[in-house]
Amino acid sequence: MTKRTALIAGNWKLHGSTDLVQALTRAAKQAASSVNAEILLCPPAIWIPAVASALQGSSVKVGGQDVSAHEQGAYTGEISAAMLKACGSQYVIVGHSERRRHHGESSELVARKAEAAFAAGLTPIVCVGETLTEREAGQNWLVVESQLNAIRGLLNKTTEIVIGYEPVWAIGTGKTATPEQAQEMHALIRQWLVQQNAQAGHIRIIYGGSVKADNAAALMAQPDVDGGLVGGASLDAEEFIGICRNV
Ligand code: PEP
Repeated sequence: MTKRTALIAGNWKLHGSTDLVQALTRAAKQAASSVNAEILLCPPAIWIPAVASALQGSSVKVGGQDVSAHEQGAYTGEISAAMLKACGSQYVIVGHSERRRHHGESSELVARKAEAAFAAGLTPIVCVGETLTEREAGQNWLVVESQLNAIRGLLNKTTEIVIGYEPVWAIGTGKTATPEQAQEMHALIRQWLVQQNAQAGHIRIIYGGSVKADNAAALMAQPDVDGGLVGGASLDAEEFIGICRNV
């Protein structure tokens, strides 16, 4: 079986301050050598240089929360993959459900963003997931599969990506998928990935949706859950490190 190093990624969303940068980078650095996971901090882009600088010399990584599909040009407000990389990022989240919902991002746009990230040498974390209505209608796999279909072209070029399975009904709601629900979807995603590219067995599939220190161990114990994408709980140093310790 392919051995995959767990990845715990903190998505700060629209939160951040000099105090938060200091507290979270300090805690992550201290924990990094004693946990069984790669730790990644994804602050708002404006904080990336400060976070990267505070993390220098440690194994903790930095990533963006979104990226432009364009390399450069007249796209006011956008940030390119090359810029994220130049400021110290190694990863970038694309297709988070909040971007799909509040910014109308289609799976095709998400795929173009993932391609832009790859072209600049960043590892894209491609988020997929169904809404509650879709799950209740038994369409969870259909929805996730159609979101994944958009990145087929990318998978022909690289397997240096991460998939974030984030059921929309579990994000920021306090409702976590059961370990069985997460495992079921992760196994389907894994099967799909390997069908596209025989080298895809090492791709990490991380779970997101109300992950906390007290539910992390059961989720991470699932054979196809390779880590967590953590929103709210990543803003509390103790809670976030508690999750990292429960891998
Ligand atoms: C997220 O923002 O990706 C997320 C999973 O949020 P939360 O952990 O707060 O549910």
